[in-house]
Amino acid sequence: MAIKERIEGIRANLRKGVELVAVSKTNPVEAIAEAYACGERHFGESRPQELRAKWELLPKDIEWHMIGHLQSNKIKMILPFVAIIESLNSARLARAINKEAAKLGIVVDCLLEIDISGEESKSGWEFSSLLTDIESGLFDELQNIRLRGVMGIASNTNNEDVVRADFNRLKGYHTQLKDRFGESFDRVSMGMSHDYLLAQECGSTSVRVGSAIFGDRYYG
Ligand SMILES: *Cc1c(COP(=O)(O)O)cnc(C)c1O
Repeated sequence: MAIKERIEGIRANLRKGVELVAVSKTNPVEAIAEAYACGERHFGESRPQELRAKWELLPKDIEWHMIGHLQSNKIKMILPFVAIIESLNSARLARAINKEAAKLGIVVDCLLEIDISGEESKSGWEFSSLLTDIESGLFDELQNIRLRGVMGIASNTNNEDVVRADFNRLKGYHTQLKDRFGESFDRVSMGMSHDYLLAQECGSTSVRVGSAIFGDRYYG
């Protein structure tokens, strides 16, 4: 099955208002161009170098989502053109992003990546320490970051009850934080190839789908 049919199949399953981010990491620019040709404009990448190289080669109206772990020294590489950083997962990274954005005179959209699985390999802010950072006024000082919502990765299991509980947890965190950050804090990024329908049921506003569009990856 071609990329076009896969994208159309996924779109047909998504409710109005739920955004599809095509996770193109490890896939060649030709595959991205194919998805672009059928109207896809949101692409997710997890490595700064790879994101930058693809940005250089592809149409400039693509909205690039940074979804992987971001080291402070790589921020510069993607900041001028990235549409949103979904993987903001520490106070240190927040300060570093803010500093680079201030230098460029831009405000960068970010999602708070929160740990919802509690797994060993977990990535994301522990919710309790995120709350502590927020209470201590972290984001009040960071004028070059605009928080747009939350992002999370569910447990890596086939147990639907566990995954649903993870998604509900993230949705709950979003509701709790929305009071604080206001109307523009409107996104809940959750759901991947194997669980995006369940994520949608649980209130996702943005699903990040890779292998169900581009096929299996060899790494990443
Ligand atoms: C790779 C990745 C995805 C997409 O995973 P698939 O299972 O291929 O859909 C989504 N989100 C993040 C953060 C990823 O790293």
